Amino acid sequence: KRDTDMTSLVGHFIHGEHVAPQDGNLIDIHNPSTGAVCGQVEMASSALVQKAIDSAKAAYPAWRATPPAKRAQVMFRLKVLLEQHSDKICELISEEHGKVLHDAKGELQRGIENVEFACGMPQLLKGEHSKDVGPGIDAWSEFQPLGVVTGITPFNFPAMVPLWMWPSAIMCGNTFVLKPSEKDPSSALYIAVLAAEAGLPPGVLNVVNGDKAAVDQLLEDPTIQAVSFVGSTPVAEAIYQKASANGKRCQALGGAKNHAIVMPDADVDNVVNALMGAAFGSCGERCMALSVVLAVGDEMGDTLRDRLSAQIETLKVGAGSDNSNDMGPLISAQHFDTVSGFIDSGVSQEADLVSDGRKLSVEGFEEGYFLGATLFDKVKPHMEIYQKEIFGPVLVMLRVPDMQTALELINEHEYGNGTCIFTRDGEAARFFIDQVQVGMVGVNVPLPVPVSYHSFGGWKRSLFGDLHAYGPDSVRFYTRRKAITQRWPSTNLREGSQFSFPSN
Ligand code: NAD
Repeated sequence: KRDTDMTSLVGHFIHGEHVAPQDGNLIDIHNPSTGAVCGQVEMASSALVQKAIDSAKAAYPAWRATPPAKRAQVMFRLKVLLEQHSDKICELISEEHGKVLHDAKGELQRGIENVEFACGMPQLLKGEHSKDVGPGIDAWSEFQPLGVVTGITPFNFPAMVPLWMWPSAIMCGNTFVLKPSEKDPSSALYIAVLAAEAGLPPGVLNVVNGDKAAVDQLLEDPTIQAVSFVGSTPVAEAIYQKASANGKRCQALGGAKNHAIVMPDADVDNVVNALMGAAFGSCGERCMALSVVLAVGDEMGDTLRDRLSAQIETLKVGAGSDNSNDMGPLISAQHFDTVSGFIDSGVSQEADLVSDGRKLSVEGFEEGYFLGATLFDKVKPHMEIYQKEIFGPVLVMLRVPDMQTALELINEHEYGNGTCIFTRDGEAARFFIDQVQVGMVGVNVPLPVPVSYHSFGGWKRSLFGDLHAYGPDSVRFYTRRKAITQRWPSTNLREGSQFSFPSN
């Protein structure tokens, strides 16, 4: 039986069943477009988190022994169910996150692509084989699952980021405990129910809702073998340190400050369109949002200032449920205050405020957390609005004399998630790709989020750990390698004892 009406009172999904809130430790979920409470989610008790871990542990032996092709059949069915239930999932995303429905569709589509990748993973789990490495000796290496692994996910992609993690993890033969963001937990929970409907055995995927207490318990439990985290940099760093200290494998993806270089030869119409979408889409609450423009030359700076401020005037900001809007609200009243505070800081540090989003009011949605698109020009590297991740609809422009200065700025910044160069000059683009200290690079592509069969990850303080998320790296992250060397007794190959180190 599938309980799809979970928006009002959100519990957990443990051992194949929706677990309704029990202990009454509920926190409110707000609809950011209206500011109203649209539901409540339970912060799992320690006993409930333990139940989820125990369920995953119990499910592991049988799931590990399930042939990869059988695991993949569940993924094929899940893909179909996700497509069938896409409208409902996007409504849940939009209601709790605030992003406009068309943007939620894009998010879900990218998540489905991770499920599609998972469908083909038996191909990547084959291992490597060498025959006759010595007399009558064969060798191979195989990928074995880790056991019970966990994922902790952020509010800004409530459906997609969990799908970066658990489909790959379980395809590798692991079982999983997911801890979604408490701000918008419903879509991940809904998808877990669909996975069960697709045939996933109880316990292979468990979802517990909660906050730091639940996360700490997962990081301390000796059953948990690996931790995938996506969220802000301070939390990512703390989680990486704690997980590592507790002997767990960890990948922790953090925050960002993504720069775009606009060269004097760039196609300005394309640049302006690209910057508008990449800076203000999803209200700037994307880890790949372009939040800094480096205009090469004053002429380009003047042009972008005029063109962007004119486009900002036409931007349609409003409720996430209205598909005609370009941009919805911020996630919470608290985050609204944080982002507004950054704008105040830019003004007090004497950046040039060209478009001021603080003036916006959306008729009929006066209690929503709406902040308009904001543009600062003539920003300097020492300013807080340049140094910090704002995670809102605030685009800051710096004017630089040449590409080398732009490149140095990017390489000196603490974050290294994404970046883009807009140019018609292939030589400049090629040099940029080679030299830039950033994990994901676009050339005239403003949001270079890798497709599902290339892994996703930043450099510097945008990622703690070695392996990136989803794609081929996920096979490495969610498995450990075993190397086997084998010889069967044979009458033709009798050997005496050998005391020298074996070699060919
Ligand atoms: P967040 O760090 O506040 O929370 C992320 C998760 O960690 C949530 O599940 C939350 O409950 C949990 N959490 C929060 N504080 C914790 C603590 N002290 N101890 C243990 N767990 C804790 O992040 P957020 O506000 O939900 O998401 C926005 C941030 O995520 C931004 O910084 C954004 O750049 C980043 N992000 C990064 C990527 C990436 O791929 N690099 C992708 C999406 C979002």
